[in-house]
Amino acid sequence: MANFETLCVHPLGKEKEFADSVTSPIFPSVAYNYLDSDELQYPGFYSNYNQKRLGRIIAELENGVWGMVFSSGMAAISTAILSFVQHNDHIIFSRDLYGGTWKFAEQELVKRNIKFSYAENTLDSFQSVLTDRTRLIYIETPANPLLNIVPLKQIAGLAKKHGIITVVDNTFASPINQQPILHGIDMVVHSGTKYLGGHNDLPFGALVSNHQQHKEQILSTAKMYGGSLAPYQCYLVEHSLKTLAIRIQQQNKNALAIAGYLAQHSAINRVYYPGLASHPEHVLASEQMKGFGGVLSFELDASPEDIIVFLKSLSVIQPALSLGGVESLICSPAATSHKGLTGTQRSHLGIRDNLLRLSVGIEHANDLITDLQQAISKALGK
Ligand code: PLP
Repeated sequence: MANFETLCVHPLGKEKEFADSVTSPIFPSVAYNYLDSDELQYPGFYSNYNQKRLGRIIAELENGVWGMVFSSGMAAISTAILSFVQHNDHIIFSRDLYGGTWKFAEQELVKRNIKFSYAENTLDSFQSVLTDRTRLIYIETPANPLLNIVPLKQIAGLAKKHGIITVVDNTFASPINQQPILHGIDMVVHSGTKYLGGHNDLPFGALVSNHQQHKEQILSTAKMYGGSLAPYQCYLVEHSLKTLAIRIQQQNKNALAIAGYLAQHSAINRVYYPGLASHPEHVLASEQMKGFGGVLSFELDASPEDIIVFLKSLSVIQPALSLGGVESLICSPAATSHKGLTGTQRSHLGIRDNLLRLSVGIEHANDLITDLQQAISKALGK
């Protein structure tokens, strides 16, 4: 198999019928001749050429056998979950979840009488909440915003023993840094809006399975809940994926340099980055990841007012909520993504009010460090 840099630029080998075109064509059709179609039961907006091609490309990057794309990460996540659980079944979620996934569990799964538990990031904890109705284990690693790591191989082993399906949200790592299927995981989901799209302008989601037999059930759920991705958007994603490997390599490199810089700064209380030897799960991250990603978090030793001064003083890094794009973005989880939790819930998760999450872009690391340095100095005089 070709290396990632090559796979991103030349996915799926050459499509014979379009061999004279360097880039992919766009097919807007959502209607197909039913006499020739082998997927008649699905509307054209789930079997369009560009959608199917993009699903196959992302499946190839994730080392899965089958993939499908959606109009958002949440559409992929809700489809993955609802395809495999019903009334009275039980799900185990890793403790640190994207807010939307957490809300989906607390509001939508509750309405459907689907039970769930949260596990800490250890095999023992997953084992301790297992029930005879557990059908699905859903994991985020590295997780937002403290970059905690869940042991994929161990959890996949536990799930296999009990016939449970495993799903990993691989948004934070991207397939360049981590391929959960190679660790025994059954399905991978993405908010493609982040690294896969990579330019803070392309909302979409993806689901990859390592089992051909999942396809029918997933397509049937997807069809009921909508969330199909338009062909032109599929083309734009394919366009973005060509630079995925080099973007991620630059983001990994920048994040490690910035984490190292912040770790020795007197105005910073703590840095959370799995690439630092001081990260409690650094060894595990090194075993299951090929790179540590472009997101890090840190606690600025500052009052809420000084944090606002710091954020306003940044000139290259922008205070904004997303992550994974070429532009560096920073946000306060307590004031944004985790605002909906109570103070007690946030402190149980270890999210302090002075925590800042930085999604590192592809700018030069020195310019980002200089930007952080001058903003800390304006806010705190250090
Ligand atoms: N998973 C993770 C880890 C996320 O950070 C997000 C969004 O921030 C999602 C899923 C949801 O993706 P989307 O916003 O594309 O629906």
